[in-house]
Amino acid sequence: MSYVLRGTAAEGSIRFFFADTKDIVEKAYEYHNTSPVISAALGRTLTVSSIMGLMLKGEKDILTVQIKGDGPVGGITVTADSKGIVKGYAVNPHVDLPLNKYGKLDVYGAVGNGSLIVIKDLGLKEPYVGQVPLISGEIAEDFTYYFTVSEQVPSAVSLGVLVDVDLSIKQAGGFVLQMMPDCDDELITRLERRLGAAPSVTSMLDSGMTCEDMIQRVLHDFDPVILDKTEVEYKCSCSREKVTRALMNVGKKELTDMLETDKKANVHCRFCNTDYDFDENDLKNMIAALDN
Ligand SMILES: [Zn+2]
Repeated sequence: MSYVLRGTAAEGSIRFFFADTKDIVEKAYEYHNTSPVISAALGRTLTVSSIMGLMLKGEKDILTVQIKGDGPVGGITVTADSKGIVKGYAVNPHVDLPLNKYGKLDVYGAVGNGSLIVIKDLGLKEPYVGQVPLISGEIAEDFTYYFTVSEQVPSAVSLGVLVDVDLSIKQAGGFVLQMMPDCDDELITRLERRLGAAPSVTSMLDSGMTCEDMIQRVLHDFDPVILDKTEVEYKCSCSREKVTRALMNVGKKELTDMLETDKKANVHCRFCNTDYDFDENDLKNMIAALDN
């Protein structure tokens, strides 16, 4: 099971989230048959979104992350709830690119230049929308920039997905460190130096380290205190019942049009690749139900 550890360090001056999200990214791979570079791009986005979900204050708050770039992936969308449960998709999940000049999966090459948009539905009249340009297209740096500029919380984000030779997910995870307002410059400099010297998330996970081990490796002399552990997962909550309700909400006129033109309706859930087919009778029943 994927999980996130939340805690504080340096007497509360730093808050942290460390995540092992292998099962989440594996599920995305199973649903979407993602190519390695898209497993990395979507997997990194799912990982940080799950963490951001846990940052939401209200139980019913929902977060949507959109990566809109001009690269061949054509866009990534992920949603997360306040329990860190996520689902997501890439418009073109099978993009195949050569490794970049560092010998790594070319996530920037797949994503391209564009924007990172974060929409938080906090149950208010208008959702909160934050938007920043993609400054690297490698996802982690883009979220570092988003937190620092859009939410004005200086942060460090590290994300990684390691794809196995059979294209399944070998390791996935990441962490977010955030500096609280009382964080002084000396502490920030020490932390930056430490992060610069730390191994990548995937190499730590691949050497058998758990999130607890990673916290010790990255923050051992910052007195880290783990506050809680949350199990997180990839889950789509769509169902035939919900899709039927959504279709009925479209209205009687549109349903009648569908009945007369196509004699059927098909709804595809992009988050779990499920098709819901409705035949002539189903449509007639829906229209009849709307009459009552
Ligand atoms: Zn679904």
